[in-house]
Amino acid sequence: MIRKVRHVLGISGGKDSAALAMYMKTYHPEIDMEYYFSDTGKELPETYELIAELESFLGKKILKLEANHSHKNPFDHYLDIYNGFLPSSMARWCTQKLKLEPFERWISSDLVISYVGIRDDEDREGYVSTKPNIQSVFPFRKHIWSIEVLHKVLHNSNRERIAELYKIHGSEEMLTRSLEIVWEPQSPKYLFSQKMKDLLQLSISTFNHVVFNFLKTENHPVSYLNEYSLLDNEDSVDIKRVYQLFRENGVKVPGYYEEIEFEVNGKKGKYNRSRSGCFFCFYQRKIEWIWLYERHPELFRKAQEYEKDGYSWMDSETLEQIIQPERIAQIKLDYIATLKKKLNGKSKSNKLIDILADDNEVCANCFI
Ligand code: SF4
Repeated sequence: MIRKVRHVLGISGGKDSAALAMYMKTYHPEIDMEYYFSDTGKELPETYELIAELESFLGKKILKLEANHSHKNPFDHYLDIYNGFLPSSMARWCTQKLKLEPFERWISSDLVISYVGIRDDEDREGYVSTKPNIQSVFPFRKHIWSIEVLHKVLHNSNRERIAELYKIHGSEEMLTRSLEIVWEPQSPKYLFSQKMKDLLQLSISTFNHVVFNFLKTENHPVSYLNEYSLLDNEDSVDIKRVYQLFRENGVKVPGYYEEIEFEVNGKKGKYNRSRSGCFFCFYQRKIEWIWLYERHPELFRKAQEYEKDGYSWMDSETLEQIIQPERIAQIKLDYIATLKKKLNGKSKSNKLIDILADDNEVCANCFI
């Protein structure tokens, strides 16, 4: 049965999803991409600037998905429904109501391939829908598939099918070795990760073609494509390449990433915000709250207005407490010390945003 497959890419306001949009437009213009942005109504002004810049680069509108159409903006609308209960990492109703549900409503029952900007130098998974009509792919990685697809393909029970596909899609030179790898069962001695690494080392594009053809008999959105140019893409995009994409395409890196100097008790430091998302996001670090207070005092005051009836954005202290002068100085000093330690360790980048982003469990929907 012929069914149309839609290709969609969500812009979060972060650098990686923006870089992916530029990458897809530049290297895969044949894919008819639909761009969208899930607007919580509480984004930083820099995010809206990035959206406008990208629209002009892409030559396309980025569709704004809103969670509701009441007179109130989306976040405030749902905050009323939740009786003022502020979201937190343990009760993240904001992502569900403001990002996932509007997205899934927009998609409805259409077959969709969703492009996610998780880089090849990152060790995390993005949003993988539980809906069978939505499939995530990751063009910045050496292979493009989500983890649940890979587990299915490399499952021991599928070795015969995969071996047959290697005979069809692999070159003659690699046949013997590829079959050895495929037939070696996964076990504590031969882990899934090693097996995948071995197959990718042999040939990334062959691996992609094998997975694509394996999925033809499974009910995934890519099964409905006749051809897919990403299969032959052996590129891998890391943090350096992301910045390069901004430079090459003349798009400004969002302003909140800019490092700004501060001085405290004779010590110098630099701060910025490490991610996009709502200005009051509970995932931000204390130094980022201070950044908000000093760089966007009006937004900080707005965030403060939400702290009432015993609710606060952080467990340990309120925003009122965090902006007492001695507390600000302490947070800055702690931050300088933490950063120093991290810089002495190994980091993929020497930019603050990347050092900070390295170790925090965050919401992939809001920050990619
Ligand atoms: S940015 Fe933070 S507050 Fe906003 S929707 Fe995402 S997780 Fe929630």
